[in-house]
Amino acid sequence: MKRVSIFGATGSVGLSTLDLVRRDRDAYRVVALTANSDVDSLAAQARETGAQVAVIGQERLYGALKDALAGSGIEAAAGEQALVEAAGLDADWTMAAIVGCAGLKPTMAALKAGGAVALANKESLVSAGGLMMQAATASGATLLPVDSEHNAIFQCLASCGLQDVARIILTASGGPFRTRSRAEMADITPAQAVAHPNWSMGAKISVDSATMMNKGLELIEAAHLFPIGLERIEILVHPQSVIHSMVEYRDRSTLAQLGSPDMRIPIAHALAWPERIATPCQPLDLVRIGRLDFEAPDEQRFPALRLARAAAAEGGAAPAILNAANEVAVAAFLAGHIGFLDIAMIVEDVLQRYRAPPPASIDDVLAADAQARAQAGEVMERLTA
Ligand code: NAD
Ligand code: MG
Repeated sequence: MKRVSIFGATGSVGLSTLDLVRRDRDAYRVVALTANSDVDSLAAQARETGAQVAVIGQERLYGALKDALAGSGIEAAAGEQALVEAAGLDADWTMAAIVGCAGLKPTMAALKAGGAVALANKESLVSAGGLMMQAATASGATLLPVDSEHNAIFQCLASCGLQDVARIILTASGGPFRTRSRAEMADITPAQAVAHPNWSMGAKISVDSATMMNKGLELIEAAHLFPIGLERIEILVHPQSVIHSMVEYRDRSTLAQLGSPDMRIPIAHALAWPERIATPCQPLDLVRIGRLDFEAPDEQRFPALRLARAAAAEGGAAPAILNAANEVAVAAFLAGHIGFLDIAMIVEDVLQRYRAPPPASIDDVLAADAQARAQAGEVMERLTA
């Protein structure tokens, strides 16, 4: 039996992971499940799967979780430290699916524990990629990419080493506003931005897809997972989201991974790796899809792409600053405080204004993250004053 933990179990990726786990009860034993504030869903999931521990991120909800688990024999815990401790339990496989930099410490703890870590939480890798890759090497942990593009690249690399890779082609759907002009983007509402044409996802990543910051974060993510040099990682807009990414080898042979846009496919790959399991996902119907289209990305209309590439090239604390400013701006957009085009503008402003030394530790990363959040707050105050 594989001992599995799911961080961010109540979210979009967490629910997809649980869906697969519950289809084969004999194959998996659930160690820890975590959520930020949804006590009822977390307690129900923990009871249903017979989890060993359930952890709620918000410390004030400890009593509520304990009550909800009364009589079940499942241990209740709460708070940031409890999340980190749960990541250090002896799971064979941990799904890191907390959204945002909030997932950094638990993800690092899971990497240090040395098992397999299925990584959905791209913001942690963007902010602290160097330190995370070092931690994985030091502990012998296996980092399994879950983000569909990175999982596709991982599959296309198969047994080949990076020395034979000429280019990585990261595909992007282009999001719901792919064909809109800047002027037409000005009054986009949160409801319009979270309605992705191909994928059903959490609110934050849906907005990131709409601004294309998601692809920018994924560029940085790819540069850490597959270190072939930033200039050899290209972004290609492919509106149907059928090809999830490609690897071109130096002999000019190109491999692609295709599949229906269902996160359970890359999650299943990571869950079973190095084996394969059956999923309930739709088989790919290429006759029905009919055609696959491709376009170059447009950095004028989607400045987030340019900002992310520049932050990646600068390295050091710049990606952490980019990510933190973006998290603050996306939350403000979702709350109705700022406009859609303000998101990238705020990120650019913070990147220009604030510099931090290259982080040597997770505490350094979190200090840069906190400073960038404060700066983003100031930029927004000026904007909405
Ligand atoms: P979501 O918003 O649906 O779920 C987030 C989960 O994290 C929830 O369980 C929530 O309770 C938990 N959480 C949020 N804030 C927390 C905090 N401060 N402390 C502890 N837990 C907290 O998000 P999602 O769409 O499932 O995305 C999760 C991660 O996976 C993100 O990093 C996202 O970029 C990445 N990802 C998602 C998809 C997708 O299809 N949804 C695809 C690729 C990558
Ligand atoms: Mg992706």
